[in-house]
Order: sequence, then C-alpha cells, then structure tokens
Amino acid sequence: MNEPLDDTLSPELLSWVTSANKPDTDFPIQNLPFGRFHTSEDSAWRIGVAIGQYVLDLRKAGLIGHGDMNRLMQATPAERLALRQAISAGLRQGSAQRDLFEAALLPQTAVTLGLPCEVGDYSDFYIGIHHATEVGRQFRPDSPLLPNYKWVPIGYHGRVSTLQVSGSSFHRPMGQVKTPEASEPVLQPSARLDFELELGIFVGQPNRMGMPIPIEQAEQHVFGLTLFNDWSARDLQAWEYQPLGPFLAKSFASTVSPWMVTMDALKPFRRPFVRPEGDPDPLPYLDSADNRAQGAIDIEMEVVLQTASMAQQGHAGDVIARSNFAQAAYWTVGQLLAHHSVNGCALRPGDLLGSGTLSGPTKEQYGSMLELTTGGKHPLTLSNGETRTFLENGDTIILRAYCQREGVRRIGFGECRGTVLPALSQA
Ligand code: MN
Repeated sequence: MNEPLDDTLSPELLSWVTSANKPDTDFPIQNLPFGRFHTSEDSAWRIGVAIGQYVLDLRKAGLIGHGDMNRLMQATPAERLALRQAISAGLRQGSAQRDLFEAALLPQTAVTLGLPCEVGDYSDFYIGIHHATEVGRQFRPDSPLLPNYKWVPIGYHGRVSTLQVSGSSFHRPMGQVKTPEASEPVLQPSARLDFELELGIFVGQPNRMGMPIPIEQAEQHVFGLTLFNDWSARDLQAWEYQPLGPFLAKSFASTVSPWMVTMDALKPFRRPFVRPEGDPDPLPYLDSADNRAQGAIDIEMEVVLQTASMAQQGHAGDVIARSNFAQAAYWTVGQLLAHHSVNGCALRPGDLLGSGTLSGPTKEQYGSMLELTTGGKHPLTLSNGETRTFLENGDTIILRAYCQREGVRRIGFGECRGTVLPALSQA
C-alpha cells in the first residue's frame, strides 16, 4: 500500500484524441475502462477501451490477439497493468504508435455497446447501511436494522438471464400483489416499480472451489466496477420476501453500464475505511490493515429521472438523488469478495456482484423511490410539475458516477440508462 501511482495516472497526461482532453469527459487517458462492442457490419463482440468520444479496438491496435473479454479478465494484476500501460503509451500525445491506434478508433456513437462481458453468476449485496435502515424502518418499524447487519455482508443470488446493457428497456413486471386491505393477493402489473442506485463489481481472476479468497488478496480478483440499476417491484417484494428473500420482485430486469472502470484507474480515489464509533470490529477474515487504510473508494453518484413528456420536449431530466459510495457503503469491495468465497464458493471471471442500494443519510441522497417518497407517501414534484411516487410507464432512469479530487484527473463511469415499458398485459 501507499506505493507511488504509476504514470498512467499522471494528471498532466494528454491524448492525441482531443475529446479525451476535455475537462468534463468521463473518459480521459487516465481512465481507460474496458467494454465490449460490435459494428453494424460484424456482429462478433470485440474488446474496446473508451477514450474521449471514441472506442479503441484493442485487437486492431495490436494489443491483444482475441476478442474474449472473460479471458482477458483472468489476467494477473501485473498483466493488467502492463496492458494498461501499453494502451496509455499508444494514446499519449506524441506517441509513435498513433497511426496504428488511430486506425483502430471508432466513434462510440457508431458502435453497439454490449454487456461488458459474459456474466456467469450474479449476486446482489445490501451494503448501503442508510438504505438498509430506511427500508427496514418501512418494512419493520420495530427493528429497522437486523442484528446480523454489522457482522455479515447480507446478499442473495440473482439472475443473469435478465441483465441488460444501458440503453435497454423492459416491460413492467406482472406479479402477485396483496395490499394490506385485501384478504387475498391478485396477479397484476406492479404498481410500485422502483430503481436501485448500485455499483457492479466484476470478478476477474477466479478462485478454486473450496479455496476462500483472503481479504489481503481480494482486490486482485476484481477486474473493475460499473454502474448497476437493480430494478425492483416493491409490491411484489413486500408480499414474497419472507422467509427466503428477494425473488420475482428483482429478477425481471437489471441494467448494467457498458464500461468497466478498473481498480488501477480508481487508485487515486481510495480512502480510509472507518466504521462508526461503537460499532463492532469485523471478524478477522473481513479485516486487514490495508482494508482499513484504503478500503473505501470515493465515487460520486447521481440519479436522473426523465419522464416520457420530458423526453418528448427534449428535456434531459431531473437529478433526483446524489450519493457517494464511500459514505454509503458499510462494507468494502475487498470484504465482499472475502465474504462471498469464505465458504468455498468459486467466483469466476465475469461474475457480477451488486453493491446494494447506495443511499446516503439524507433525503437528497436516497437511491430509490421507496426512500425518496417514503414508500409512496410523499410524492416527488419534478421541475415540469409532474409528480411521482413510483415509476410510471415511459420513465427513464439514468445513473451516472464520477471520481474527482484535487490534483488528480477526473474520471467517469459513463451512464446506465433504462426505460420502463407498459406491462405486456397493458401493451
Ligand atoms: Mn439491489
């Protein structure tokens, strides 16, 4: 820890790709996030790196010999850093490889971006303590935070088949709903459809079944982070969640942003990880000096809601929440991998771990409609006068995130965008 930052992070570094040098770009040369794309002529996935408004085709630039992202994700940390340094060198102002790399650039608007890799398994955690407390208060006023919360990173296994990439839409789910007044449930479209502001953690190097990942090595197994929207049907959830947890309230759709921001790019934004005064220390397998010194990551996040009428009028939407990963998270990325594998569970390249909803402690920082409207009791009024308790058909949710710090180049995550369509029975 505290090793000097490698020169790919130098804030003075500029690229010959001029859009990468704009102060507000998400993708300066210091970021270099990985994703998959294809063109209209060739439907095979290729591995790309975002630079300014472009994507660099790594194979065409001569940097790798294949298009298999999951294979690339198994690289050791040293191999990953060597590839990052080669990409950075070729994209720098004055690079001798400029002609080769320039022939491998495509505008991001000219390609189709996909899920960043083949996702094998997906687990969703619940590490936002302010979210857990606020939601717990609504579902269980007597015991908002259950007694296990500060000891064990809570999670459940989700479904990969309904993951979709940013820019997709999905139908409002049907499901069993039982209102408090009704004596029996009915099958109907969810009336309490919600978003969840989360980060996605993509596993790189695997562990063998039966071999837990020690916390000291946990981040070596992480390839990168994305934005993640874990769409949730609160009325289905309230009726079905006991005793085994989330099921159909979650498995109808989840949206992932296309670019994996690597742990190398996030190095300048690490923070000490501190538990509040009086909280128990984590068990030893979830604790390390390095995790305490720099386990947290300072990532600013925001949620934009664009209604159908806003979209028609060319209105980009309202920011309805802002939050911060370091402030919201009760557990670190390293702790999640150490915990997930402590029972011998094998994690594989391309596995996805959701963080859980990353709400801050105050109302402007709530990462779901459930919290923003107190379970639908206090509607949000939008800038055009529309109101919302939960999401309506035609609503688009856009998640964004970025890291910035004095003396360091700002980097961003791009966006995670998804639109609600009517239930199939309503279409
Ligand atoms: Mn979730």
